[in-house]
Amino acid sequence: MAVISRYQNDVADYWNAERNPVNLRLGDVSGTYHHHYGIGEVDGSVLEVADERARDEAMIAEMHRLENAQADLLLDHLGDIEPHHRLLDAGSGRGGTSLMANERFGCRVDGVSISAKQVDFANEQAARRGVSDKVRFHLANMLDTGLEAGAFQAIWNNESTMYVDLHDLFAAHSRLLARGGRYVTITGCYNDVYGLPSKAVSTINAHYVCGIHSRSEYFRAMAANRLTPISVVDLTAATLPYWELRAQSSLVTGIEDAFLEAYRGGSFHYLLIAADRV
Ligand code: SAH
Repeated sequence: MAVISRYQNDVADYWNAERNPVNLRLGDVSGTYHHHYGIGEVDGSVLEVADERARDEAMIAEMHRLENAQADLLLDHLGDIEPHHRLLDAGSGRGGTSLMANERFGCRVDGVSISAKQVDFANEQAARRGVSDKVRFHLANMLDTGLEAGAFQAIWNNESTMYVDLHDLFAAHSRLLARGGRYVTITGCYNDVYGLPSKAVSTINAHYVCGIHSRSEYFRAMAANRLTPISVVDLTAATLPYWELRAQSSLVTGIEDAFLEAYRGGSFHYLLIAADRV
């Protein structure tokens, strides 16, 4: 991997050590592993299961359904993808979104992460599914992947933009995307109307060792790098049920209240942004 900063080294350490049940137990439900949050209405019947253990299992399966729905929505925004296209998953985690993209579009997908543990895990998942020839995960910095310029029809960041400077990131993406290609991100961002990061947003930053950007910063950095927005979807209301369910589950990590407070208080948004490379 190209040289990374000391900060990026700390981020890699975090993800190399990460074994939160809230990610692993949810992934075990179907064998698709994510490190992102969910969207959509919760099926309230899971909370009414009488047996405590069965209720917990039902809540886990429900959270997994919602995190898959999040990835499906992201893929819905990639535009017309054909089997000969190439896709890039920037900050690919344990590989869930990449594998879903390959399953849906049948095309080649490259994923990059700065965590060696995650890259190994994700490549094992691809091997287990027999798609290693199409889906490949690389230990690489998404700001400097060394991949071929103009080779990608679509690139996405699924909850991974808060680890990098957006101008650097979009400059890198702009180089890799084909003209007319699509960029999509789902991300938490702080609300410029509120002001600067709230206490709850700062708590989230400290928890994950990340730097949540403002909403406006996304559009400034896109505009500066030939990325022209085509859709902006505010998913804040759609992600609240996931957090309310998670806060009642056995898999709490301690960050749930900060997310609920940030979203409910209006200092934080959960946004999907899709843009064309012009
Ligand atoms: N997109 C995945 C994982 C999100 S978690 C999912 O939806 O499940 C954030 C991810 O960003 C982690 O995999 C972390 O290793 C990765 N990441 C953070 N900084 C990075 C960088 N500079 N280059 C590549 N990956 C990075």
